[in-house]
Amino acid sequence: MIRSSRKITMGVAFSMVGIVVALAVHVLFAGQAQPGEKSPADVEPVPALTPYIDAHTHFDQHDADGAIRAALAALGRQNAAKILLLMPPDTFDHPGHFDAEVILAAAKKYPNKLAVLGGGGTLNAMIQQSVASGNAGPEVQRKFKDRAEELLREGVVGFGEMAAEHFDGATPYQYAPADHPLFLLLADIAAQHNVPIDLHMEAVPETMPLPAGLKSPPNAPQLHENITAFERLLAHNSRAKIIWAHAGADGTGYRTPDLCRRLLQAHSNLYMEIKTDPLSPGKNYPLADGKLKPEWLKLFQDFPDRFIIGTDQHYPEPKGSQQRWQTVVLLFNQLPSDLRRKIGTENVLHIYGMPAASSSNVANK
Ligand SMILES: [Zn+2]
Ligand SMILES: [Zn+2]
Repeated sequence: MIRSSRKITMGVAFSMVGIVVALAVHVLFAGQAQPGEKSPADVEPVPALTPYIDAHTHFDQHDADGAIRAALAALGRQNAAKILLLMPPDTFDHPGHFDAEVILAAAKKYPNKLAVLGGGGTLNAMIQQSVASGNAGPEVQRKFKDRAEELLREGVVGFGEMAAEHFDGATPYQYAPADHPLFLLLADIAAQHNVPIDLHMEAVPETMPLPAGLKSPPNAPQLHENITAFERLLAHNSRAKIIWAHAGADGTGYRTPDLCRRLLQAHSNLYMEIKTDPLSPGKNYPLADGKLKPEWLKLFQDFPDRFIIGTDQHYPEPKGSQQRWQTVVLLFNQLPSDLRRKIGTENVLHIYGMPAASSSNVANK
């Protein structure tokens, strides 16, 4: 839609509200286009006012080098200090599953700019396999632990993306109780090595039918209540840092600021990533006409040490569509500067145990 006409692009740009947004958005006219060439007019990207780390992105596993080039090129455009790359949560039944090995070697050449989480294509698949078979016995646990420790030796900085409740999309529908023995084991391994677990879990505070608009199959017709099990995981090992991905991208209607607040209050090892995708805003979107809603701002202000940015951006960026990172940055730019510093960089360095020096380009400008 955006690329179909310059007028539409301008309309999108000018419909955004908020002083920061209004001042920062500039429309580029497609004067440079070659005659006869279809020229999508672009909205000039608006960078973050101060540096931030994007702690949740994905990439093209068939072209790791291209993905790395795209992510590195994006840093300056976004004023991002660092980008963390994750594997999608997957199953062994899905033919496309892959894990950190496809990109680790290439990413490790840029330790100050890129880092990789692992386990989405193997550890998560092992949990799915164990849920299906009902076998979480000693042999299954030993193999799981071996694989987790192998990933750590290879250089992953955390485990992700893991899934407890994930709708069908690029990867199959997945459900696993968050207090499954392998999740508890992973929490212990994560705590021992001071790395976090990045968890995708649609919020389901009570058993409910699949939300309208989603198909079953492939999704389950009925969703399991999952907050109780999630709280058991959080309580299992208070030194295990759990990042609940996708605050601001709610697929069930229950990932409210109130639920986030209650869980953050109850569990000091819980962290959350902020994601806003205007193409798929979900049911508790933090923005109204581009402006951050007061209840979300209050939540960020009341828990300034517990939120980070995790845009779910894909590299290379999909062509012709709005990029996920941009809307999150427009939200980020509305935060007070002290909160921007924490959410942008400090909290990520704390959660990942990264020395501040490892992000030497983290400096206000
Ligand atoms: Zn996810
Ligand atoms: Zn993701």
